Amino acid sequence: MPPDNLIDGRSIANQIHSETAVRIEALKRKGVQPGLAFVRVGEDPPSQVYVGMKERASERLGIRSETHVLPEATSEATLLELIHKLNADSGIHGILVQAPLPPQVDSLVVFSNVSPDKDVDGFHPINVGKLLLGDRTGFVPCTPAGIHELLIRSETPIAGSDVVVLGRGNIVGKPMAALLCQKARHANATVTLCHSQSRSLRNHCRQADILIAAIGVAEFVQEDFVKPGAVVIDVGVNRVTDEQAKGGSRLVGDVAFLQVQPIAGKITPNPGGVGPMTIAMLMSNTLRAAEILVR
Ligand code: NAP
Repeated sequence: MPPDNLIDGRSIANQIHSETAVRIEALKRKGVQPGLAFVRVGEDPPSQVYVGMKERASERLGIRSETHVLPEATSEATLLELIHKLNADSGIHGILVQAPLPPQVDSLVVFSNVSPDKDVDGFHPINVGKLLLGDRTGFVPCTPAGIHELLIRSETPIAGSDVVVLGRGNIVGKPMAALLCQKARHANATVTLCHSQSRSLRNHCRQADILIAAIGVAEFVQEDFVKPGAVVIDVGVNRVTDEQAKGGSRLVGDVAFLQVQPIAGKITPNPGGVGPMTIAMLMSNTLRAAEILVR
């Protein structure tokens, strides 16, 4: 029997997809079909998989998508030229530039050149600023937005809770902390943001009512990092060698699931937790970008 303390990301993502689909139909009746452009540079295998999953989700929901694949050696100027073209294209409401980008390209420059109105990934400085300021007109990055929805829809109390976010990356950790510390409904948490230079990391984690692990280190969070009854969200995607597995490797999270699941109040499976929510929030952000245009 599956453990009954799982936060089922697949089923919550499906609920969100259903809500998004209804609103897309309403928009189509007004003559607008949301359009989403994917930009991928190079042939990084995980990026190919992620963009493929996002393309299929778009198709299922009736979002028109187009994918632009540029060679690994693409210069920053060429990439910016494509982004400016997409910014000016009235049939495109959302633009997603898949990370990681090759080293000759400065991701901060690239993200700053996506029109903030089409920045469905929420990485443009204007949207980052709006998130910090608590201005809800911006786009929130998809993974933290998805984790927030997981907490809300699993009825996890957030206000007043001690939250530890493990990892201060720009894509997950920092925006996650910014979201949960707002003076707002479904926020008002006391947030501690930990990273590789944090002292007493384990002690910080052990205080958490909600522990969100986003560091990219396989099974880093062990049983003794977790307060019994805490809600544990595992964001990490790490490939580890396993000779028994197909292809000689398998994916694991940042949490040692088998150790932590029995003592956690609730926990996300991995896969099947945060990943599907990232895609659901991308679809929802794209819909919102299109809705704003017709308003
Ligand atoms: P990132 O930008 O590389 O940030 C990693 C953070 O973890 C950094 O702040 C780093 O600290 C910290 N860190 C690394 N090793 C540590 C250690 N041993 N102890 C404490 N802190 C440590 O990564 P990211 O983009 O935020 O992604 C994090 C993980 O989430 C990755 O596994 C990624 O694949 C996964 N992810 C999943 C999804 C999804 O949809 N499921 C989406 C995005 C990311 P410093 O800042 O001190 O270097």
